[in-house]
Amino acid sequence: MIKGEQLYEGKAKKVFATENEDLCIVDYKDDATAFNGEKKGSIAGKGVVNNRMSNLLFAYLAKQGVENHFVEELSDRETLVKKVSIVPLEVIIRNTAAGSFSKRFGVEEGTKLKNPTLEYCLKDDALGDPMINDSQILAIESATQEELDTISVYAYKVNEVLIAFFKEIGIELIDFKIEFGRYHGRVILADEISPDTCRLWDIATRQKLDKDRFRRDLGGVEEAYAEVFKRLKL
Ligand code: UDP
Repeated sequence: MIKGEQLYEGKAKKVFATENEDLCIVDYKDDATAFNGEKKGSIAGKGVVNNRMSNLLFAYLAKQGVENHFVEELSDRETLVKKVSIVPLEVIIRNTAAGSFSKRFGVEEGTKLKNPTLEYCLKDDALGDPMINDSQILAIESATQEELDTISVYAYKVNEVLIAFFKEIGIELIDFKIEFGRYHGRVILADEISPDTCRLWDIATRQKLDKDRFRRDLGGVEEAYAEVFKRLKL
């Protein structure tokens, strides 16, 4: 597969064209940002962890019936994926209160929620990714009702599959953000699933093994990513 022109550079990944117009190559960087790009840094080796972890999870999710963009891992940092048009929504599922949920609703971080929650944020850096509900999404035509139905079914399914998957390696899935893309008239899971986009706590110690170590200057950032990598036997 020939790596063609760069189509896009995001905060954590670059995307390149290929000779097949249905496929593109993502290249994961070590760059890290938080708080809508206000905090910037680099996490050595992060790109490799996020690439390989996302691919492992996408391959597993595909087997469980969650169609997604993963095609083939090309190298430590590069992966061939289906070229989708991203639905401009961040889809967040939570099992335990943390981060903005704790702040907004005054629920102590670490409180187990009675049921998983689903929330949407509009993907728009200039607006600071504001929270948005179903009727608002339909009103501004960010997605159709049919797309939202597919997205919510997939999002809860991803949660079920990943809770069990991480439990096996001693990790509690606190919450995560996923994104979807349009591909030949269907909506499929896309983007990444990594310690950048999930809150992952060690079950035994409740130690944070995710990007909150970077966001909150907790130290041991590289070590946390390396620990997840090790547990996944990547
Ligand atoms: N998240 C993400 N990208 C974002 C915002 C959130 O991947 O731009 C993930 C975050 O890692 C966490 C979940 O979504 O796993 C919920 O994040 P929250 O809304 O609590 O926001 P935060 O506290 O990270 O600002």
